Amino acid sequence: LAPSSTFPLQFELTPSQDAREEAEREVILSDPGFGKHFTDHMVQIDWTIDAGWHAASVIPYGPIQLDPSAAVLHYAQEIFEGLKAYRHADGSIWTFRPEKNAERLQRSARRLALPELATEDFVESLKQLIAVDGGWVPSAPETSLYIRPFMIANESFLGVRPSQRVAYYVIASPAGAYFTGGVAPVSIWLSTEYSRAGRGGTGAAKCGGNYAASLLPQQEAYENGCAQVLFLDGETGEHIDELGGMNVFFVHRGDKLVTPRLTGAILEGITRDSIIQLALDRGLTVEERDVTVDEWREGIASGEITEVFACGTAAVITPISALKSPDGTIGDENAPAGEFTMSIRQELTDIQYGRIEDRHGWLT
Ligand code: PMP
Repeated sequence: LAPSSTFPLQFELTPSQDAREEAEREVILSDPGFGKHFTDHMVQIDWTIDAGWHAASVIPYGPIQLDPSAAVLHYAQEIFEGLKAYRHADGSIWTFRPEKNAERLQRSARRLALPELATEDFVESLKQLIAVDGGWVPSAPETSLYIRPFMIANESFLGVRPSQRVAYYVIASPAGAYFTGGVAPVSIWLSTEYSRAGRGGTGAAKCGGNYAASLLPQQEAYENGCAQVLFLDGETGEHIDELGGMNVFFVHRGDKLVTPRLTGAILEGITRDSIIQLALDRGLTVEERDVTVDEWREGIASGEITEVFACGTAAVITPISALKSPDGTIGDENAPAGEFTMSIRQELTDIQYGRIEDRHGWLT
């Protein structure tokens, strides 16, 4: 933080003159889909190397003006976050472990040579947006308001060096239930040709460039009838890293949960961290270690691995029925969701939607 920046930031509100009427909003909230509709306002906070973070504001949602030479358009100096606001039965609105997203954004900022935003300012930015756009948090089961904070390098300068001018924004988009016809297991595609991250790279940062690099293999996954792509580590190509947008877990016989360890190439999922905690609470053994595709294949064959699932903010937990690759299929594409997968999913969503006690103090 530059010394002249004030802390905590004070936000100024400019109300939107063309906010949607309640009736129009309700039509959208009845079938929001995902990432298609946006609320009436957004947060903007500016940063310069001289003034630090300043001009925190809640303004009408709308296009951002960028100079064609803005650094982000050329060198992808950009990071983002994703979390949800949930409406509880009493009408109140809650976010899940937002300080974890704040800390991850700070780690991403360090890796991308962007300025860090204090946790308190990050959490306040979410509160400020919800304060004006809370009506956009839907209330039907499993629906939420998806919140997307992001930071871009907006200095007009073509040199390759950290931008001296940056802006942080928060936008929000109502999200429908991820699974409408019940939680459905998916097949995933093993990318043998492409990696998501390499040693010393940006795998642990949530930066746009990682996702740009995942689009081609993701397309390959779709072409092979799979929902997501599974990446192996970029160094040896032997260990499982994660999916394009989710972490992965293996349920072993005898109450054991195994997930790839955090190597610096994997995104530290907040859902991942929460599942580890809930599993420990249940008395399970949790191992964070290297996992190979061979272990997966042999574990399914021997019955040692009983369930596989992916996790992330968007779908919470998605059962994985099979892993497909040019070498064949591991698992059974038509297998139903496993018992542990469904019960841990239920427990996590019960906490998020306030149906059971928030014993870890995860809700804000
Ligand atoms: N891995 C990747 C690559 C992701 O994009 C995400 C989604 N943010 C995750 C894992 C899951 O992280 P979280 O549980 O914090 O949503």
